[in-house]
Amino acid sequence: MFCPVCNGIQSLHIRCSSCAGAIVDCGRLSDLTGPYAPYAQIEDEPLLSGDVYLQNNSACKHLLYCSTCNEATEVSVTEW
Ligand SMILES: [Zn+2]
Ligand SMILES: [Zn+2]
Repeated sequence: MFCPVCNGIQSLHIRCSSCAGAIVDCGRLSDLTGPYAPYAQIEDEPLLSGDVYLQNNSACKHLLYCSTCNEATEVSVTEW
């Protein structure tokens, strides 16, 4: 399983639901939640249990950012 977006095979063509502008792919969420990321402490929370790992097996979560609305959204990319 690999993410076609991370591997440059596919690109995300998603438009912002608020302004319909193109939104930028900030990369995969798991990369952003590394040891030095602000979300690192999420690992200690019981909410992140088996469910999340199951999802991660088939989907790569990307963080998308709309610079117009100044808003970030999360998108699951189905892995191949
Ligand atoms: Zn990806
Ligand atoms: Zn927007």
